[in-house]
Order: sequence, then C-alpha cells, then structure tokens
Amino acid sequence: MTARIDTAALIDNARTVAARVAPAQLMAVVKADAYGHSTDIVAPALYAAGLRDFAVATVPEAVALSQLLGPDSGARILCWLFDPAADLTVCTRAGIELGISTPEAFEAAIAAGRAIGRTQDVHLKLDTGLGRNGLSLSQLDTVLERLRTLATATGTTARATGTTRTSASAPVRVTGIMTHFANADIPGDPATVDQLHRFDTLYGRLQAELPHALRADDLMVTLANSPAALSLDPVPGSHVRAGISLYGISPFEDKTAAQLGLTPVMTLTSRVLNVKDVPAGHGASYGLTYRCERDTRFALVAGGYGDGLPRIAGNRGEVAIGGRRYPIVGRIAMDQMILDIGPAGDGGQVAIGDEVIIIGDGTTGPSAEEWADWCETINYEIVTCISARVDRIAVGADAASAPGDRARGGDR
Ligand SMILES: *Cc1c(COP(=O)(O)O)cnc(C)c1O
Repeated sequence: MTARIDTAALIDNARTVAARVAPAQLMAVVKADAYGHSTDIVAPALYAAGLRDFAVATVPEAVALSQLLGPDSGARILCWLFDPAADLTVCTRAGIELGISTPEAFEAAIAAGRAIGRTQDVHLKLDTGLGRNGLSLSQLDTVLERLRTLATATGTTARATGTTRTSASAPVRVTGIMTHFANADIPGDPATVDQLHRFDTLYGRLQAELPHALRADDLMVTLANSPAALSLDPVPGSHVRAGISLYGISPFEDKTAAQLGLTPVMTLTSRVLNVKDVPAGHGASYGLTYRCERDTRFALVAGGYGDGLPRIAGNRGEVAIGGRRYPIVGRIAMDQMILDIGPAGDGGQVAIGDEVIIIGDGTTGPSAEEWADWCETINYEIVTCISARVDRIAVGADAASAPGDRARGGDR
C-alpha cells in the first residue's frame, strides 16, 4: 500500500490556516509522524514554504525533527511529553524547547541546562481545565517559587563573575506559555470560554511574577489547536499549535474539510491482487461473517489491520476502484481484505492490478471521516494509525517538477 502525500495541498492548507489566524502565527504540529503523513515529507515541505515553528509531543520526535531540519535551520521545535527521568540534555544541546507540566519536569530541565552549561528554554504549560497535562495552580506556585530562587542565585553568580546579562548563565529561561482546550471542536462551548478566562488570569499573573532575568522578552503564547484556530474570534495567543487542519482534515463533526477551505493531503492507495467468480452462498474471510446472496465476484485487495485499517470496518466500509465504490465484505485480515464487486458484466470492470483508493477526499474514494464513522472513531485516529508498513510518497508541485527525486518518505 502507498500513501500519496500531496505537499502542494499541505502548503495550501498551511496558508489557509495562517491567513485565518493572523496576526497570530502558525506553529505546525507534526507529532506521531505528522499524523501518519510522514514527518520526513511534511516537515521539510513546510520548512521550504517558509514555516519555522514546529511542535511534536515526545523528546525522540523532537530530536529526530531537529536532525531532519539540520542544526542551522533556524527552526524552533517544541515538545511537551516526557517523564522527568528522561535525559533532557539532548534537548538542551539541540535547542529544543520543552513544555513544562510538573515541578519535577522543571527540575529536569534545570538539571539539563546545568549539565550542558547552556540555557534550556521552557514553555510553562498550564492546565486551564482539560485535566490532562499542564501545571495545576499549586504546581505553578512551586515552579514560580523555584524561578524566584533561581533568579536570585543567577543574579548572584552573574555579579560574582562580573557578567552584565544575568540570563546568560541561567540554566533555564521561560520562552513560552501554553494551554490546551478540551472542547474547541464544539464552537461556542462554555468550557472553552472558561479556559480562556482562566488562562487570561494566569497569564496576567505570570506577566507580573516571572523574574525578568529568566524570561524571554517576547513570550510565545500558544493556546489554540486546529478547532480553536478555525473557530475562535479573535484567535488567542501569539501562535497557534495546529495539526490536523494542515493535513486537510476537519476537526469539526459538522463541517467538512472543503467547507473550511482545506484539501486532504493523504490518498491511501492499494492494488487488486485477485479477482474470482464465486457462487451464491460463498463466504468471505475468517469467520465467514459474509455470504454472497447471488453468484458474484470477489476482489482481493492488499491492506489490513497490519497497515492500520481497523478490523471493525469489515462488512461496513467501502473502497473505490475506477471511481466506483465497492463494499468490504467479511472481516478485514492483517494484510488483506475482500470486496464483493458484483457479477461480471455488472458494470464494474475490476481487474487484477487495478488501483484501489482506500482513503481519498470523499470523491476520489472514501474520506477519513467516512472511515471514522465506520470505525466508531475520529478522522484523526484513522490517518494517524496508518502503519509503518505503508509507503509514503510525496506528490505535489515540487515533487512533480523533480519526479523520483526527494519523493520517497524514508524506507517505510
Ligand atoms: C496534538 C496537539 C495539538 C494539535 O491539535 P490539532 O487538533 O491536531 O490541531 C496542539 N496542542 C497539543 C498540546 C496537542 O497535544
């Protein structure tokens, strides 16, 4: 199976989101292998289009991204999910910024800065209601207290060594403040208004209480994910952390990508491996949960749950061949699935070797939203779960002008 990644659509989507959120700026979230789209393809394409602010979840993701973009890229990379026992010195060395959600994580960042003798940049992540990661009020108090002690100690060291800029010797510096919404996908939800109020209060407090020596002059303030970036007016913060929208996927239940001016970036394709006539009553796949009612033909298609296609879509989902939809019958197996393509001469002209569109834009083939409905999940999960066995191949404006060149998304 192959996932075609349309970099022209990606860049269009990024421009659409950037225009919507201005004067706030776009920080591209490329965690989980760019939501299954291949960070190796997505990040360099966005970088080439001028984007410089990136975010991922984990430290290994951040380090890989930093290596991919190179040491002199000038890109800012933020990550926010790590346990305090993690060795964060890789981040200090690479200039990766860390979202801080506990006093323990803050200590780990300080320790990393001290170990390397450089400043580790941190974003204070505030829990304003999601209940997931982020500093609670009392945890924030602890971190602020620690910052005050550090500022005093740093100031003392600086005076002793005769340096003028106290921050030069600081092990940490606050470069950003962030929070994350719980219900931004439901426009107008009061929980979002509550979170905004709590954030404003805390932000005011931080403006007053963050020691000057240990903070950046221009804090990066990020609240909005894609649904918030596409629905709030005005868009809060200096930057938005947008992921799903860049991939041309709608974060809203009741709005399509097209209605948001976004184009799906991924087209997931496969091939017909076998076509055979079967008599009425013939079963399909493990458990024989499907039996055809009439003489028909089955087509075998490469692709199963080993490629990330949820097994629950068996006897529910469809795929497209030659612009026409066919039902997936019986259980989806690890590597393959069966379609009932109807009797020969029934209009469908399916042959071995035909291309199958498993996920398309809704016209070319089923959308990620349709898959999400069949699988009782959300479109985010559908694309993110496409497994490493599937090849990612870049297509798009720049890929088209240099066919075969820079197109392969790694060795997946
Ligand atoms: C994943 C994530 C985002 C991006 O959310 P989208 O809805 O994909 O735009 C932003 N912030 C945090 C903290 C996240 O975990």
